This record gives sequence, structure tokens and C-alpha cells, in this order.
Amino acid sequence: MKLAINGGAPVRKDPFPPYRVIGQEEKDGAMRVLDSGRLSGFLGAWHEYFYGGPEVRGLEEEWAKYFSVKHAITVNSATSGLFAAIGAIGIEPGDEVIVTPYSMSASAVAPLVYGAIPVFADIEPDHFCLDVESIKRCITSRTKAIIIVDLFGLPYDAEAVRAVAKEHGLKIIEDAAQAPYASYKGKFAGTLGDIGIFSLNYHKHIHCGEGGVIVTDDDELAERLQLIRNHAESVVVGKGVENISNMLGFNYRMTELEAAVARAQLKKLAPLAKERQANAAYLTEKLKDLPCLTPPKVRTGCEHVYYLHAIRYDKERAGVPRDKFIEALKAELPAIQGKEKEGHIRGSYVKPIYLQPMFQKRIAMGSGGFPWSAFPASNPSYQPGTAPVCEKMFFEELIIHEHFTPPFSRQDLDDVVAAFYKVWECRGELA
Ligand SMILES: *Cc1c(COP(=O)(O)O)cnc(C)c1O
Repeated sequence: MKLAINGGAPVRKDPFPPYRVIGQEEKDGAMRVLDSGRLSGFLGAWHEYFYGGPEVRGLEEEWAKYFSVKHAITVNSATSGLFAAIGAIGIEPGDEVIVTPYSMSASAVAPLVYGAIPVFADIEPDHFCLDVESIKRCITSRTKAIIIVDLFGLPYDAEAVRAVAKEHGLKIIEDAAQAPYASYKGKFAGTLGDIGIFSLNYHKHIHCGEGGVIVTDDDELAERLQLIRNHAESVVVGKGVENISNMLGFNYRMTELEAAVARAQLKKLAPLAKERQANAAYLTEKLKDLPCLTPPKVRTGCEHVYYLHAIRYDKERAGVPRDKFIEALKAELPAIQGKEKEGHIRGSYVKPIYLQPMFQKRIAMGSGGFPWSAFPASNPSYQPGTAPVCEKMFFEELIIHEHFTPPFSRQDLDDVVAAFYKVWECRGELA
């Protein structure tokens, strides 16, 4: 046996099947809207259309029912949802918000939109969500909220984090973009904080191209979210809103087309999530005895929905650096069809967010260093070493892939497993 990277025959040549979830039901929804001629129902004024059209309201009703929450508020992206959430909870310039360094950037950047300062806590070595002990170390008298991410599809340590938040009077914004249908002690991810946010962008479990849904059980927060979504400043008088702080509104509205597609997608969420779970469980079972790998661990009491499959790699046991192992692995397996350009098996996920230029240079709004320059009492670290666990995962330990998404067959999964074993067994060739 010779590794494909050294000229041997690869384990597999045929591309893996694409993750294609749009079907007749979504087409019917889109046509229903196109035939109506009304592609958006919103009006940015206090009016019966302030809340959007029938598809948007239909989706919100169905989403709220599905996730057992009082309010679901659609937006045009999860990023918009995060920004709206920061505004709704009343974050002020100079407040500190604890965020994770290991996520899509928006979940760390959102506080800056309202002049608040992101403070990076570290992540858990086994589960990759924010670590509660690290959160505690980041709390100051200026801390107002935590934005916590259910990373890779696993809910955060909700009870422990809630206890800390309660003790210090902090709000929890849960970014569940990667975790629709995941659960913690029988409660859905997204419903474990004060406000939860889902994404419907093309890369997520279910999608409508671009879109997001915010959920909350709090009536006042729901109203503030609806206002920020839709030109609040022009609506507060008509609606008789008294608390006008952070009520400069944006246009975060979802179209009727996206809402109609998302309604059809919501019906597919459970079967799609369950298939991911079954495939991930199969991979875990097959890979768990390979000495240099630790397949994803599931927090006690949780259901993981595997947005990505994140495997820890032990370079001491393998005797080969991670990135070399990955290069060899990639040569053994093709990409998922349609994802050829995305780097199908990756060394880790995003770079620790504080290492990005915006944080390194402390330049966000304008060129004068606002908000940091305006609030010198806040001086969070963005230096290398700020979140050592995150850095270790990113630079050394994680192997991330999507080679298990529906409609992967057992044979497809067996090819993935065979590639891992082949590279392990032939690792001497990589020395
Ligand atoms: C995808 C994603 C987002 C952003 O979603 P959009 O809908 O593209 O704005 C935010 N947070 C996390 C964790 C994500 O995975």
C-alpha cells in the first residue's frame, strides 16, 4: 500500500454526493410567492405591514411552535440577528460583551456595532464551546452580556453558564446558527439563553439562500427586535415606544420568497439532522480505536447535530504533524460534489478571531480606534496566547470535515474511514 500523496492509488476517486436539500416543496413555495406578485410584505412604518407579509409571518408562527418559544422573528441573516440582539438587550457604548474566539466572525463582532467591546474567553478542550471557568475570569464591572455559540452543532454548557450569568446580571445571546435541532436536556439549542439566533444561509443544515431567525420568550425583547429589524426610528412614534435607546433601525427584513422556501425547509429539519447524527455516530464508532484520533464528544444530556465533524488529532501518537496527515488524507479522498473549492478536509476551523487585523490594530468604527480608544478602562487582551485552548485546536489539533452529510451511504462513510486508517497505517511514508 502506498499513499496517494506519494503516487499510490487513492482510496476513492468518485466525488461524494452533494448536500442538496431543495426540492419540489421549496419550488412550490417560491412559485406561490412569485404568482402573488408581492415579493416582500414589509413596510418600514407603523402599519399593519410593519410585521411583514403572510409568508414571513407564517414562518415565524411555525418556527415558534416548532421550537416551543413565544416569539420567532425572521431576519435576512444570522449576522443581522446578532446585531439586532445586541441592540435589543440595551448594550451601551463601552460595555463589555464576552465572546468566543472560535466561531464565524459575526458572533464576536456584533458588540462593536453598538460601540461595545468584545472580550474573548477561551473554549472547552472537549466540546469547543465557551468554557465557563474562562468566562468567569473575563467578567468585570463593565460586562453586560455573553454571546455563546453552539459550535459545530453541540449546545453550550447551558446550566453552568446560566448560573454565572444570573450571579452577575448578564444576558445570554445564544448563536445557534450551527445547531438547529440540537438539544440540551430536552430543550432545543437556540432556546437556552435570553435570545437565540439561527441561520438559514446556504451552508447551514436547512437554508433559503440567506436568512436568519431570532427566538425569545421575552415580549419586550421581541418588540425591540422587531423594531430594529425594520427602521425603528421611523416607527417609535406611531407605535408609541418609550424606550428609544438603540432604536436606530436597520433593514434586516426577510423577503417572502425566502420565507416560503424556509417554511418548506423547516419540515425537513428533523430527518436531515437525524441522518447527520446517524452518520456521525457511525464514523465515531469506526474511528474511535484509531490511536491518534479522538472523534467528537457529546456533552452529557445533549444531542449534537454535527454541522461539522471535528476530530482531535494527537501528533505525539501519530509521530506526524497534523497538516501533513491532512494533506495525505485529502489525497486519498475526493471532495463533496459542488464543494471542490472549499478545502474538503481542513486543519481546524477559523483562525482565533482576536488574531484578525481589526482586533490586532483596534480599528473598528472610523480610524481613531473607536470604541477602544474611547474607553481606556477596558483593555482586553487580543495578543497571541489570549485563548490557549483555542489556539491549540486551531494550530495543532483539529481535523474538520463534512464527509458524512446526507445522502452519504454506508459505502461512502466506509471510504472515509478507510482513508483515515490508510494514512495512519502508512504514516511512516510521511516522515
Ligand atoms: C453561519 C454562522 C453565522 C452567520 O450566519 P449568516 O446567516 O450567514 O449571517 C453566525 N454564527 C455562526 C456560528 C455561524 O455558523
